[in-house]
Order: sequence, then structure tokens, then C-alpha cells
Amino acid sequence: MRYDVIVIGGGSSGLMAAVAASAHGAQVLLADKGDKLGRKLGISGGGRCNVTNAKELDELIKHIPGNGRFLYSALATFGNKEIVAFFEGMGIALKEEDNGRMFPVSDKAKSVVDALIRKVREQGVHIRTNSPIAEVLYEDGRVQGVRLRSGERVASDAVIVAVGGKSVPHTGSEGDGYVWAERAGHTIVELYPTEVPLESGEPFIRSKELQGLSLRDVSLSVWNAKGKRIVEHEGDLLFTHFGLSGPIALRCSQFVVKQLKEQRAQSKSGAGAAAGVTPAAAAGPTAPAGAAAAAGATVPLTIDLYPAKSVDEIYTETLRLAETESKKAIKNVLKGYLAERMIPLLLEKAGLREELTYDNIPKLAWMDLAKVVKAFPVGANGTLSIEEAFVTGGGVNLKEIDPRTMESKLMAGLYFCGEVLDIHGYTGGYNITAAFSTGYTAGKSAAEAAMLELR
Ligand SMILES: Cc1cc2nc3c(=O)[nH]c(=O)nc-3n(C[C@H](O)[C@H](O)[C@H](O)COP(=O)(O)OP(=O)(O)OC[C@H]3O[C@@H](n4cnc5c(N)ncnc54)[C@H](O)[C@@H]3O)c2cc1C
Repeated sequence: MRYDVIVIGGGSSGLMAAVAASAHGAQVLLADKGDKLGRKLGISGGGRCNVTNAKELDELIKHIPGNGRFLYSALATFGNKEIVAFFEGMGIALKEEDNGRMFPVSDKAKSVVDALIRKVREQGVHIRTNSPIAEVLYEDGRVQGVRLRSGERVASDAVIVAVGGKSVPHTGSEGDGYVWAERAGHTIVELYPTEVPLESGEPFIRSKELQGLSLRDVSLSVWNAKGKRIVEHEGDLLFTHFGLSGPIALRCSQFVVKQLKEQRAQSKSGAGAAAGVTPAAAAGPTAPAGAAAAAGATVPLTIDLYPAKSVDEIYTETLRLAETESKKAIKNVLKGYLAERMIPLLLEKAGLREELTYDNIPKLAWMDLAKVVKAFPVGANGTLSIEEAFVTGGGVNLKEIDPRTMESKLMAGLYFCGEVLDIHGYTGGYNITAAFSTGYTAGKSAAEAAMLELR
């Protein structure tokens, strides 16, 4: 059997590629190695499926720090508005939540996955599950089809690789696409975990004294070895038994990964000194002295517990609190102002005894307390693995892909879409938007090229 278009992978991008290719008149085969389509889509957004994000185009792109600008053309053709219209057209009403995140009104990812599967079936796509593809076949600089692991060959002039990255492999994304890309002459930008929880060896992490503490509306900064702030994200943060998680830790994670890599490379090349930079030295102008100084590669982070207030405001407000309750120990006075479980640590870092009362407060140390509240230091010395990450960073080099079609510039008839490409966004619907948008573009372009050939 010969198909106009073969889509490998029935995840977010592959399902959308199959929808678009069949809608544009192509006879399509959609092959997936798993027994079910859309597994990862089905667990995204905490099982509610964060289908897209309502932000305007420029904002969307800003929230895709891994090469979002490559997506201008694809998003202009099939962006968030088209995604919303597409699902609403199939009877899946969407609702907007905080920060523009869009979910199905049903709060069920299954409704989104089922609608996509229904659509590809209605449009006559031939679906084959439990059909792992072993190889994409090339000859004379163009695609010939695919070979299944069973040995069976299926012919086509257009193959869309939509097999995802390497994260959460039990959903089927095991990194199969990179080898096929390399065999076509593509380079793979080194893979790394992104949107991934951070590990820390700080004593207060190891002791688990903050485990489970969730901080709302704080900010997290990542600093480089020279003491320059690389990035700051505001939102919610969670202390875990191994380090930090929650939306802002995930957003900062790619910067931590890159800093760790840099430090390790420098220490290997003998330039050494930078790798030995202590967070205390590097934690920047607002970081208090005494920031954690773990040995080895450690990236300095600081948590600002009151992003909207200045050090002086915090100093004055906390001092006023202590004055109004002048007989109370400061650890009790601060309870309404700071997360209770952090108070002993904050006081310790500022060199203040918990039992002090207003009359005995050393003003310099109180200023240090205000500084620690603005820049609580945490050294990050790793992240969870790429398999445990929400998203895979790196992938097929975008310089070798036409952004208007998603076709390879090196192999005629070969298309890529979704996470296999060197594109990654923050959580919040941006990755799925990128997957749908590149999937739609690849499907439409592959079908149009196939239809031209037929004429
Ligand atoms: C727990 C979790 C939550 C997430 N939450 C969000 C979120 O809230 N917002 C957001 O934007 N993003 C989120 N993401 C990321 C988002 O889900 C992915 O970026 C997106 O689904 C990637 O789509 P894809 O089509 O590239 O790959 P996938 O959805 O991973 O699909 C790849 C498909 O290819 C198939 N396949 C692989 N190899 C082969 C082969 N050799 N032969 C045949 N088939 C093969 C797999 O079985 C799979 O079905 C989340 C990810 C995870 C893991």
C-alpha cells in the first residue's frame, strides 16, 4: 500500500498533522508504537489538558524560550485562535484560566484526545497502533517511506516525524526520531531536560524541614558565576524532599541546566576557577553574605519572598510589627508576615536569635533579615533526569528546517513537528500549542506537496 503522507507518532503534533494532511486531500497513514494515541496529551495539564494559551502572538513567542521565533509563520497560520476554533468546532468548549491557560470546560483531557481521534477517523486517516516504525527510508535525496519493526515496508513520498522527545518515555516518546534525522544528514542540538524540578544539596533541603511548603507569588532568580542575574520568574514555588518544584522552578530549570553545563565544562577544561565560584560570591548585589557554598557545580538561586516590596519597606514593616508586639519573641512576631516554617532559617541566616524581643534587636542584623527575605539563597546542583522532565530541550536543528512548511532542507519529503524539534516552551499550554501549530503546518504542507505531485 502506498500513502500520500505517513505520520509517525500519534501524539499532539502527529494527530494534528494527520488532521491537516487529510483535510488537504491526502491519503494518510498514522502509525504509533503504542496501543493508544495521545497518551502524553492525555496526562498534560494535570490530566485536564492545557490545550493552548490565550496570549497574543508576541507574548506566546516570549513564553517559548526554546526558539519560539522559529514559530512566527506556523503560529500565524495555525495559532491559539485557530486551535480554539478547531476544538470548539468539534463541540469541545474551552475556558480560560489564570495566565491565559486554556482548558476544556469538561476538565477532561480525554475529551480533547477523543475529539482528535474522532476527527482523524472521520477524515479517513488509516490508523495503525502497536506499529513501531524502525526506520525512515531514503533514496537519492528523498523519502521513500518507512520500515516497521516487523520488517514491513510502507511507501510514501512524504513522511512526517512526530515522535516527540525523550521525556516521560512510558507515553511512547523514547527519542526514536533523532537517529532518523541524523541519517538524513541533520544535526541534533544536544538534548537536555527542561521544565524539570531542581535538586539542591542545601542542609535545609536534606533535612526536609521545608518539604511540602508552597510559596505563592514569590520570585526565583538564577545567577551566573559572575554574579549576574540570568533570569527571574514570579509565581508559585514548592519545596520538595530533593529541592524545588512548582511553576517558577520549572521555568528557571533550563537556565540552571545551562549554567551547570557551563561550570562543568569549565572545570573539565581546567579553567576551574569559575566552577568553584561560591553562590555567596555569585549571588549578586542583593544576595546576603553567607549564601550556601556547596562544593562542585552549584548554580546560585535566590528566592524573593516579597517581589513587590523593597528591602527598606520590609525592614520598616517588620520592625514596626516587632514594636507593636514588643514583648513577644521575634519568631512569633514574624508569623503573619513570613511563611512560619521558614522563619527559623531566615533568622539564622541573618544572625538573629529567635527569642529576641523588640528592645534587643540589633538594627544591622535586622537589615540583613530584610535582605534575606528579598534574596533567600538556595544552591541548585542538578535537576531530575530528562526522562522525568516535562519537556525535552534540544532536538532537530531548526537551521535545517523550513519554518513555513516544517520540511527538511536536506531530505525532500521529510517533515518534522512537535517536541522532536529544537523547540521548547514553558508549561502553560505553550508546548502543546507549538506541537499543534508545527503539526498542522507539516500536515498541510506535506499534503499540498503530495497533491502537486499527483497533478
Ligand atoms: C506530565 C506532562 C504534563 C505536561 N503538561 C503540559 C502543559 O500543561 N502544557 C504544555 O504546553 N505542555 C505540557 N507538556 C508537554 C506536552 O505534552 C508535549 O510537549 C507535547 O505533547 C509533545 O507532543 P509531540 O507530538 O511532539 O510528542 P508526544 O505527544 O510525546 O507524541 C509522540 C508519539 O510518538 C509515538 N512514537 C514514538 N516513537 C515512535 C515510533 N518509533 N514509531 C511509532 N510511533 C512512535 C509515541 O508513542 C507518541 O504517541 C506536558 C508533558 C508532560 C509529560
